[in-house]
Amino acid sequence: MTNSGFAYRGRFAPSPTGPLHFGSLVAATGSFLEARTRGGEWLLRMEDVDAPRCSAAAASEILRALEACGFAWDGEVVWQSRRTETYAAALERLKAAGRVFPCACTRRELADSAIAPDGAAIYPGTCRQGLPAGRAARAWRLRVDDARVSFDDAIQGRIVSDLASDAGDFILLRADGLFAYQLAVVVDDAEAGITHVVRGADLLASTARQIFLQQCLGLPTPAYAHLPVAVNTAGEKLSKQTRAAAVDLSRPAPALYAALEFLGQQPPPELSSAAVNELWNWAKENWQLARVPRGPALPCL
Ligand code: GLU
Repeated sequence: MTNSGFAYRGRFAPSPTGPLHFGSLVAATGSFLEARTRGGEWLLRMEDVDAPRCSAAAASEILRALEACGFAWDGEVVWQSRRTETYAAALERLKAAGRVFPCACTRRELADSAIAPDGAAIYPGTCRQGLPAGRAARAWRLRVDDARVSFDDAIQGRIVSDLASDAGDFILLRADGLFAYQLAVVVDDAEAGITHVVRGADLLASTARQIFLQQCLGLPTPAYAHLPVAVNTAGEKLSKQTRAAAVDLSRPAPALYAALEFLGQQPPPELSSAAVNELWNWAKENWQLARVPRGPALPCL
């Protein structure tokens, strides 16, 4: 099933765990230009579902950075932290359909589990047939059974995933009572009517899980395009964890120029000292998704 209500509705969904850095600027730029050059809408969602890792100060810094860089979004910003009831309702539907099960396992008990390609532990199935005697539920997991998911990514090509070996039964409600990113993103994209997801390839491994969850909830599957992720010279993704520098808000244009270059758009050298609005004018005229380099990661120098 595809979402046919809108011709094109994209979004940018930063997690406010720190200021906007080059890696997130690349995702914002790619998703924005793809939406605008296709006559589409571009929505903004603050992914602050993981409350202990997020802060209101980081969220307002990101909003300020996006404005300084000349991004304009459609409608109100959606805040995941205000949508707990909607996620709870989705989990109830999955419970009623028998698709989820309570899990009592602690992190330590799962320490010996096989590791998925994205580094997460693959659930060994301990509680799949019921909680062991005397144990209480800590989390809720989605049963993946033998699901195989495939999709055509507009940049990375055909992706095929065997969920049992690539992810295992994954968590939807965490032991700390918070809903997992995988559930929140699926529910939010569907409710917002998102037709196209353009985001960093660090999320490529999550996409099969999200598509499977969409299928379990009877929700449409958007089209996906995963942009290469900016890595530092040590090969690490630029992120708050690797202490990537925040975009300099007093001079946002050079960062925007660098993001366009990183995305393979070849902005003319004479624009390297241009103002933000001149860069956008050029970018909206010249953006081509086909020029974005294929591959999950690219060094950014
Ligand atoms: N919040 C995620 C991040 O900042 C992005 C999620 C998404 O685009 O689906 O990495």
